[in-house]
Amino acid sequence: MTEHAPETPSEPAAEPPGGRTSRHGPAPDPVRDPWLDPMGLALEEAVRATAGGDVPVGAVLLGPDGAVLGRGHNEREANGDPTAHAEVLAIRGAARALGGWRLHGCTLLVTLEPCTMCAGAAVLARLRRVVYGARDDKAGAAGSLWDVVRDRRLNHRPEVICGVREEECGRLLTDFFRGAGDRDG
Ligand SMILES: [Zn+2]
Repeated sequence: MTEHAPETPSEPAAEPPGGRTSRHGPAPDPVRDPWLDPMGLALEEAVRATAGGDVPVGAVLLGPDGAVLGRGHNEREANGDPTAHAEVLAIRGAARALGGWRLHGCTLLVTLEPCTMCAGAAVLARLRRVVYGARDDKAGAAGSLWDVVRDRRLNHRPEVICGVREEECGRLLTDFFRGAGDRDG
């Protein structure tokens, strides 16, 4: 037997227990929701990159207690440095703050899926977790094109959470490249 919806609903939609309606989007996501606010800091960093003519990618490095230990945005053009990716700068800042290279228990949040260099840096820094927004199908090394962070041949494998504020993170990039027109990227 198939149930047919009545043409006119006889009852108003019931409010979920506790009155927590999902006015702001989809159902609660216990994996990604804790990272929505910190990703906002990474998004702020990403916007700063464009001032120097750089592709808007931003990152923050959180300590085990959630404190911000490092932040960074893409400064490749601004500094003429091919390794000045947001993640590397955030990791370096956190290492300086902690006074050592082992970032045990720390979480890297970045607006775009890390490249091979940054995924490698996340492993070398012994990060606990990598959280990113938009996927990078062309160069991503945390699940898309490669999966450096979870390669079983490496002795340290950070947890990966993807798709946090994915749309906002991706829109920054598409808007940037649209504005850049046919300028070489
Ligand atoms: Zn990178």
